[in-house]
Amino acid sequence: MPRILTIVFVLTLALLAATPGMTAQAEWPAYRGNAKSRIYHNSGCKYFNCKACTVPLVSPQEARAKGFRACKVCGG
Ligand SMILES: [Zn+2]
Repeated sequence: MPRILTIVFVLTLALLAATPGMTAQAEWPAYRGNAKSRIYHNSGCKYFNCKACTVPLVSPQEARAKGFRACKVCGG
């Protein structure tokens, strides 16, 4: 298979895989706050699943309202 077709194929698979995830974000908290450091992360952050990241947050607005600061790595 020519390389460009392979890339298009992989991108299509990635889009298909991402679509249900985006609709599920309405029920799944897209952000998590670190209860110790009071820093919040988005779901794509490498720290999203950290041990102290136990506070589910729906939006950056909610995070800030609860006293969390945006993560410097992911931007919150
Ligand atoms: Zn982060």
